[in-house]
Amino acid sequence: MPALTPADLQLRLESASRRRVELALTRNARRFVSFRTDPLGRVKARVQEAFLDAPEPVVEALGRWMAKGRGRCPDAVREFIRSAPVREPGTRPVRAAELRTAGRFHDLAAIYSRVNAEFFGGAVSAPITWGRLARPGRKVRHRRLGAYNRRRGLITMNPALDQADVPEFFVAFVVYHEMLHALQPADTRHWHDREFHVAERRHPDWGRSRDWEKRNLSLLMRPVRRESRPSAPAGPVKPAASIPPEGKGAAAGAAQRPFQPALF
Ligand SMILES: [Zn+2]
Repeated sequence: MPALTPADLQLRLESASRRRVELALTRNARRFVSFRTDPLGRVKARVQEAFLDAPEPVVEALGRWMAKGRGRCPDAVREFIRSAPVREPGTRPVRAAELRTAGRFHDLAAIYSRVNAEFFGGAVSAPITWGRLARPGRKVRHRRLGAYNRRRGLITMNPALDQADVPEFFVAFVVYHEMLHALQPADTRHWHDREFHVAERRHPDWGRSRDWEKRNLSLLMRPVRRESRPSAPAGPVKPAASIPPEGKGAAAGAAQRPFQPALF
């Protein structure tokens, strides 16, 4: 149950903005807030329903922003959007039973908590799992090493990384990359924008990881044997192939660069 009813939220926005607010709630995962002020000074606002759970200071900041009628999104609101769980219609919630973190060689749970603590102060809450193996014998042309599914809030790691010859620092770097995605604001237009690359390069293993990846393409593209399927509790896992790409641009770029593993 959300903390506020739509009527509560509207009243609070009106009291913070000191304007009449016509509020429409949306389930739009890309655009969290839009508003305009009509000639009579009334604010017509479209707000993502996640704001029904927003803490008071966030609602205050949103209302004051609406009163101003323009300008940059306030930090409090930006932060909230960044971390808000988005429930879109038709999106299955992630169930604990479908998460498989124990690999044969790499323990995702351990790597995840280390990277989260070291680089994000524990701020990442997206669950992580090994993805499912591709059908045996299928030719691998392009391999996504990791994926962040924004709608489900789930990080999926390619089981090709669960090999003895893949060093832990490399797996950890891919986890770091996906965590950066998990923290991007929902209204980000280009997932691999300049800001993203700057953040990625801040990682001390950035250069080492890129070098390693270049030198070990064949290892990463090798069909993953059945034996390396992580021992895990039963439960269906969404096949990695059906995870939607982060953006149309990313998908198109991937198709044009065959035979390359890639982080997404
Ligand atoms: Zn990416």
